[in-house]
Amino acid sequence: MTPSSPESSTVLVLGSGPAGCTAALYLARARRAPLVITGPLLGGQLMTTPAVENYPGFFPATESCALMETLRAQAEHFGATFVMDTIVKADFSRRPYLCQGEEASYKATAVIIATGATAHWLGVPGEERLRGAGVSACATCDGAFFRNKRVAVVGGGNTAVEEALFLAHLAAQVFLVHRRETLRAEKIQEERLFSCANVTCLWNKKVVECRGEKRLEAVALQDTQTGLLEVLPLDGLFVAIGHRPETSFLGGQLELNEEGSLLTAPGKMQTSVPGVFAAGDVRALSHKQAIIAAGQGCQAALEVEQFL
Ligand SMILES: Cc1cc2nc3c(=O)[nH]c(=O)nc-3n(C[C@H](O)[C@H](O)[C@H](O)COP(=O)(O)OP(=O)(O)OC[C@H]3O[C@@H](n4cnc5c(N)ncnc54)[C@H](O)[C@@H]3O)c2cc1C
Repeated sequence: MTPSSPESSTVLVLGSGPAGCTAALYLARARRAPLVITGPLLGGQLMTTPAVENYPGFFPATESCALMETLRAQAEHFGATFVMDTIVKADFSRRPYLCQGEEASYKATAVIIATGATAHWLGVPGEERLRGAGVSACATCDGAFFRNKRVAVVGGGNTAVEEALFLAHLAAQVFLVHRRETLRAEKIQEERLFSCANVTCLWNKKVVECRGEKRLEAVALQDTQTGLLEVLPLDGLFVAIGHRPETSFLGGQLELNEEGSLLTAPGKMQTSVPGVFAAGDVRALSHKQAIIAAGQGCQAALEVEQFL
C-alpha cells in the first residue's frame, strides 16, 4: 500500500475505544467489513485505568484491558480489520472520503469518527505520579472509591459543579477549588451546590502541588491574589477543567462547538457532512462514560447502515 493507492473500505472507523470497537462490531455483523484505524491508544482511554466497576454485565469489576481486548476480538471475529495508524488529515469534500494517516491513506463511503477526548490536567508537580492513586478527572468513574472521604474538585464551570454535586452524596467533605471568586456554571446548579452542607468553596485558590507517597495525601494551594500558600489534607482530587476533543485533524470541515467537540443532528450521530458520523467522547454534550460511548458507537453503525 502506498500513499498514492489509498486502502478502500465501505466504512472507516476512526478510533479503537468503546465507541469505535462497538461501531466496528455492528458493522462487521452487517457484513460491511469495516476498517478500524486504532489511533495512538489501541483500546482507548480505558486502557489507562486498571479496572472498570460500572460496565454493565461485568461483575465483579473487570480489568479494563481485558474488556477492551475482548471487545476488539469480538469485532475482529465478525470481520472488522484493525490498522495501527493515526489520521492526520481528512478530505470530506467528495465521496469516497479520504483520510490521510501517518502510515497510509484510506478511502471510504462512510466514516465514523470515534477519536475521543483527553482530559486537561493541571500540570502541577505530583499530579501525574498520583493519577489513579487519588487524582482523577472523572467523579462518575472514581467517586465511589471516596465514600466518606475528603475530596476536592478543581474548576469553576458546569462540569466542576456537577462533579462536586455528585461527590457531595458520597464523600464526607467536598472542597471546590476555583481560581476566581465566581463560578461559570448555570445558576440553578450553583444554588444546589451552595445548599450542600458538606461542600466548601475555596475561592481565589489554585492547586500548585499534589502531595503523597503512594496515594494522594494533600494538595498545596496558592491564593491567586495574595500568593500565600496553604496545605489542604485530602484523599481525592478531581480535576474538572475541561477536555480536549481529538478533532484537530478535521481541519474545520465539520461543525464543532467552541470546545472543539463534534456537533451532530438532534438525537443522531450524523455530523454536518452526510455519511460522516461521530460517536463517544468526541461528541459535544456527551457524558464521558464507556457504556455511553459504546451505545453511541452502536447507533452510529446503525445510522451508517441506513445511509448506505
Ligand atoms: C483514567 C480513566 C478512568 C476511567 N474510568 C471509567 C470507568 O470506570 N467507567 C466508565 O464508564 N468510563 C471510564 N472512563 C471514561 C471512558 O474511558 C471514556 O468515556 C471512553 O473510553 C470513551 O470512549 P471513546 O471510544 O469515545 O473514546 P476513547 O476511549 O478516548 O478512544 C478514542 C480512540 O481514538 C483513537 N484516536 C485518537 N486520535 C485519533 C486519530 N487522529 N486517528 C485515529 N484514531 C485516533 C485513540 O487511539 C483511541 O483508540 C475513564 C477514563 C479515564 C481516562
